[in-house]
Amino acid sequence: MSQSKSFRSGYASIIGRPNVGKSTLLNELVTQKVAATSNRPQTTRNKIIGVVHLAGAQIILVDTPGIHKSERALNEMMVKASLSTFGDVELLLVLIDAAEGFCQEDEFVLKTMEHTTAPKILVINKIDLIPKPQLLSLMEEMHSKSFFKEIIPVSALKADGMEELKKLIVGYLPEGPEYFPKDMVTDCSETFLVGEIIREKVLNLTRFEVPHSVAVVVESMEEQTNGVIRVDATIYTEKTSQRKILIGEGGNMLTTIGRIARKEIEKRFGAQVYLKLFIKVKSNWRDQKQAIREFVYPNDSL
Ligand code: GDP
Ligand code: MG
Repeated sequence: MSQSKSFRSGYASIIGRPNVGKSTLLNELVTQKVAATSNRPQTTRNKIIGVVHLAGAQIILVDTPGIHKSERALNEMMVKASLSTFGDVELLLVLIDAAEGFCQEDEFVLKTMEHTTAPKILVINKIDLIPKPQLLSLMEEMHSKSFFKEIIPVSALKADGMEELKKLIVGYLPEGPEYFPKDMVTDCSETFLVGEIIREKVLNLTRFEVPHSVAVVVESMEEQTNGVIRVDATIYTEKTSQRKILIGEGGNMLTTIGRIARKEIEKRFGAQVYLKLFIKVKSNWRDQKQAIREFVYPNDSL
């Protein structure tokens, strides 16, 4: 009689400076889009959980805001959200950008985890952007730091190295229960996910200071008797000039944001969606703890 193998499970935080590809990696490992991604730094503001279901194991990934130095209240709270994951996880996945190499901002990230005991795996992401010899010398440089238990090169965007990475992570997980049922890939609420879809479209369609000034609050989400899901959401921004940009000429920008977001929300729910967007100005909300709590962290005790 063969003995049944034990189940392994646990939490792994994805850590790194802004824009190294943390959220892209989360989505790729979960094989479903959970977190918003963009080429703007500081896209992720919250801790987001993504569950990877494997035969005999479950990896619970925690995507985090990028760790960086900043004076702004919002950024301070974002970094706090990242650091707060250190104590509760089995493993830290530290991401760096292969094309940019190990830089000062990465050094700062390592400093924040100096006193953590969880094992650290270095994930060198974006290897699709550099030639092999450059990767090898970067790996050598990182080995000499002896900060990491493992070093693994991947490309989250091209889904390269994902199987190897999952295997590596599972090796560090203890025996444990199936924390999440098979059909659950995140613990984020539907309203949060819908708000992030809308915010991602704003980030990808606008420029300069507009992306960072935006918060999206989903006011209500309801299935109507005809089966259509009605979503009412407010886009908050800091200045009337930004509001003007978000509306666009003849309402063009807002229509585009709404159309692209609606399509993605429909795909996620497999239902028709009626999306109603409002834009409001809340001056300097990113400097006000109360507004930040309300707009960005309604469920956190930060
Ligand atoms: P985060 O701030 O660390 O969460 O970074 P994101 O996941 O939002 O990604 C930042 C940018 O890097 C986006 O434009 C991604 O498409 C891009 N990116 C992420 N992973 C890769 C990769 O493996 N290769 C390349 N070429 N780009 C990537
Ligand atoms: Mg992110």
